[in-house]
Amino acid sequence: MIEQQTPWSIRDAHDLYALDVWGDGFFSINEQGHVCVKPIEGQDITIDVNDVVAEALDSGSSLPLIIRFQDIISSRVRRLNRKFRDAITEAGYEGQYRSIFPIKVNQLQEVVVEVMETGREYDIGIECGSKAELMAALPLIGADTLLLCNGVKDHVMLTMMLNAQQLGQQVIPIIEKYSEFEQLMILAGQRDAAARLGVRVKLNTRGAGRWYESGGARSKFGLTVPELLRLVKTLEKAGQAGSLELLHFHLGSQISDIQVLRSAVKEITQIYADLVLRGVNVRFLDVGGGLGVNYGGDYDNPDSSINYGLREYANVVVYAVQEICEERGVPVPTLLSESGRALTAHHSMLVIPVLGVHRPDSPPMNDETPPDSPTLISRIETAYQEACATEVTGILLECYHDAREIREEADQLMRLGYLTLDQLAHTDSLYWSICREVLRKLSDAQLTPPPTEQLELEEQLTDLYLCDFSVFHSIIDHWAIQQVFPVMPLHRLNEKPERRAQVVDLTCDSDGKIDQYVCGHANTSWLPLHKHNHGEAYHLGIFLVGAYQEILGDAHNLLGRVDEVHVYAREDESGNFWIEETLKGLSVKEMLSQVQYFPNDLDRRMTELVRKQINAGVIKAAEGSRILNNYTRRLEESTYCTTEVVR
Ligand SMILES: *Cc1c(COP(=O)(O)O)cnc(C)c1O
Repeated sequence: MIEQQTPWSIRDAHDLYALDVWGDGFFSINEQGHVCVKPIEGQDITIDVNDVVAEALDSGSSLPLIIRFQDIISSRVRRLNRKFRDAITEAGYEGQYRSIFPIKVNQLQEVVVEVMETGREYDIGIECGSKAELMAALPLIGADTLLLCNGVKDHVMLTMMLNAQQLGQQVIPIIEKYSEFEQLMILAGQRDAAARLGVRVKLNTRGAGRWYESGGARSKFGLTVPELLRLVKTLEKAGQAGSLELLHFHLGSQISDIQVLRSAVKEITQIYADLVLRGVNVRFLDVGGGLGVNYGGDYDNPDSSINYGLREYANVVVYAVQEICEERGVPVPTLLSESGRALTAHHSMLVIPVLGVHRPDSPPMNDETPPDSPTLISRIETAYQEACATEVTGILLECYHDAREIREEADQLMRLGYLTLDQLAHTDSLYWSICREVLRKLSDAQLTPPPTEQLELEEQLTDLYLCDFSVFHSIIDHWAIQQVFPVMPLHRLNEKPERRAQVVDLTCDSDGKIDQYVCGHANTSWLPLHKHNHGEAYHLGIFLVGAYQEILGDAHNLLGRVDEVHVYAREDESGNFWIEETLKGLSVKEMLSQVQYFPNDLDRRMTELVRKQINAGVIKAAEGSRILNNYTRRLEESTYCTTEVVR
């Protein structure tokens, strides 16, 4: 019988990898089964990601590779600001919205500059949370750009901010602790000037989702209401009530439930109204970060999905503030949000090559039964024959149960010395043959819900796809907080992916793997992938990695920063794109020097070692020099693997 090819369309691939759920309209699959990007909103310029990879490799970059679609950053900035403008118009809100970019989400200069340049027409501002971030941001801002500074601030940072205020820059420290306020007042007094400032308020509303502790009374940030009042009274006494310009709260990142945001906005607007009514004319109301990104998959899992979009987020903020200001009879403030993840997550993707595939199951062996076998061998042979002969679910399950039990017995016998290596291999091979046979037949029967044995077998019979990357460097949130990132092949999507796969990385760490995938509308523990043909390029993309991952990533096993290219879409370029910039990742040499191994010293030691063996006559001089050169040359190269194989 000729095996029938299962019909498969691009649409099926699209649904399987759930592009509609997480792609935000930027990602699609073309006729050739390649992943494409449409980075500019409202324009049909489409880029084949595989063309970008080919060009990057041609011009000397290597995999793994980060591709930044700079236009996606701009598209997201515009989209967020337009949604707020729409909400403001619709509500008849008599104030403005300005988005504030928190640079901790991605401090790379090219990312920050892209956000700020696109954001200029929307009066975008910038937020920093540490000394280094402040020092990066200060020279970047124009005279009208709002710069907010959260986080712990020492007198050095406070001084820098006061200096900036003296220079006429719109820099506002947001007081997190009462002692910061006291320091600020002393420093401002020394200058004979009133400091402009904002306050982060500890609200009673608690965030929902993973970062819920960023808000609420137990939060490590912000002033309590009594502290806020004490601060206000101190300012009033000094005749500086006008200095308090901004009220801020932050519920934590990736707010999963919009109702929580609504409640927090109402709470802070009441405080705002009270202050305005007592003559403190706060101008800005800052609702913090937390605007979520849909990473796909399970709608019931708040860590990967959110229950709102940009439009609803904007509406909730605008309408809630307006309603309370109307009720209380106070003018509306300028609205600020510090959305970081929502602006940068989509623009960057990681391309990783598959290096090889390991199958945990042993292949079938057609050997004879080994001599002098104990009865358990004939029992497992019988179980195999039964599994092959039946289509009945009950009998299949029984065969599998038997196989499991016999395998355990075999392990015990082996430990006691009653089973030869041949006999053990024979049992193992039959065990896996039974598993494959049972799973194939159970899957064909399409039972709903599938028996737990089927799910167990699916997990056991999953191929391990070894890929050239480090989970700890490139998607650390997957390891740290089980964040799900969309993963899919970048090509062959016109072919049905027939293998069950788990992606594992280069690190010598059993946690170095991806164990949750976006698959259809659920999260699964394995991902359908295509059969990998050894020596043939098979590239996977990990998407939505533009927020937090790059800077949080670590150097486990000394795997370092990867190469990257910055891409702009342009219709008149071949392939509709051009690579504006190529950045090299860390070389072995650079990585080693971070842990105090220096090339000169390593070279010297290596030379000594080689010379000693030459002198001792162990190797010839030419061979010694070849070995030494090979070592030295590799110090300049990437910390990752090469995909080439020797033949
Ligand atoms: C981290 C942080 C943000 C950014 O949060 P996102 O979830 O990325 O939008 C904004 N404001 C403050 C105070 C933060 O700590």
